[in-house]
Amino acid sequence: MADTSAPPVSPPVPSDHLMGVYARAPLAFERGEGVRLYTAEGEEYLDCMAGIAVTALGHGHPKLVQAVKDQAEKLWHTSNIFRIPNQEKLADLLTAHTFADVCFFTNSGAEAIECAIKTARKYHWSKGHPERIDIIGFEGSFHGRTLAAVNASGNPSYLEGFGPPMPGFVHLPYGDHDALRAAIGPTTAAIIIEPVQGEGGARALPDACLRGLRQLCDETGVLLIYDEIQCGLGRTGKLFAYEWADAPPDIMAVAKALGGGFPVGACLSTIAAASGMTPGSHGSTYGGNPLAMAVGVASVEELVKPELMDNVREVSGYLNQQISGLKDRYPDVVLDIRGKGMLIGVQLGTPNREFMQHARDAHLLIAGGGDNCIRLLPPLNLTREEAREAIQRLEMACEAAQAKARSNKAGAA
Ligand SMILES: *Cc1c(COP(=O)(O)O)cnc(C)c1O
Repeated sequence: MADTSAPPVSPPVPSDHLMGVYARAPLAFERGEGVRLYTAEGEEYLDCMAGIAVTALGHGHPKLVQAVKDQAEKLWHTSNIFRIPNQEKLADLLTAHTFADVCFFTNSGAEAIECAIKTARKYHWSKGHPERIDIIGFEGSFHGRTLAAVNASGNPSYLEGFGPPMPGFVHLPYGDHDALRAAIGPTTAAIIIEPVQGEGGARALPDACLRGLRQLCDETGVLLIYDEIQCGLGRTGKLFAYEWADAPPDIMAVAKALGGGFPVGACLSTIAAASGMTPGSHGSTYGGNPLAMAVGVASVEELVKPELMDNVREVSGYLNQQISGLKDRYPDVVLDIRGKGMLIGVQLGTPNREFMQHARDAHLLIAGGGDNCIRLLPPLNLTREEAREAIQRLEMACEAAQAKARSNKAGAA
């Protein structure tokens, strides 16, 4: 007799009642463990996108699960009008490990960016320079989807249809030092940049450029904002990407890995840059609530472990070397390898969306990216053995992409 209590079979039929802003893959997962995700039917996938660099400790990390369970039974939410002990603890942790003196906690990356922009403008305002409002951003950047965040990145496709571009945002080509120097003027408030671009195609800014930016900001009184929402918290093999260049910012937005899957973000700042942020100037209902902070503390306590950073450097070295091998074997498919640490971008000679499907067919999950890239953003505790499996599946996707390209060519001839 049929078991009528069995759950419905996936892939689920897409709902008509979701706002149609995503082109979703016809795939749903029921459970995760480490680097692996499982569908309701028990089909296993290797998750080398980690929810876009979010589940940096893998799925179901025991310390994070325990932190949620313990806190869920005690207290979820109070209000920022009260002290929140774990918020203070997480701020102590983050400031002890960074350039920063103070933190503001948010629920997302975009909100951390909003806070960074407001902090920078308020700084100049409080110093008697209300005219300094311009935020200089760069082509190919991504800072989130709120109105200020899309205006900061300036990506035309994210701005189109949402009214006139906001005043106070300037966009420059990536890596053009002369254009940057020329663009800084009496109304400039801050420069915002991802030390390693994520969505834009995993482009790492050379260390010398970051140091140049720091120097330029020091000379001109412009504040330097880093968006390390994707490249921060260990992704590149140091806790923050700016450490490679030894060029700290004044303000920094963090999120993604901060809660390991629980929505948490933070805006970090020096005490000087945050001098305009006085009581009443900013706030959030949920930001930094007890439940989020319990997970944030557990997550950061794991992320700051030196052996985790050793693992990122070692296993990402292996991945890069293996992908170089794929580049030699599939020269029409793999054109270029970029990024830093476990933020790996592979520029393709075949369409990246199709390639992502080939990878899913091989039960490997990867992210897309600008410049026809795919991105590998595995959990930072990926083992060498899991990396080897990922490469095997990536090779299957390369094989499929190459076969498709050849048959297209033959069809066209
Ligand atoms: C994901 C991301 C954001 C936006 O974060 P949300 O949590 O989606 O708002 C901003 N900047 C960078 C670099 C990101 O990768």
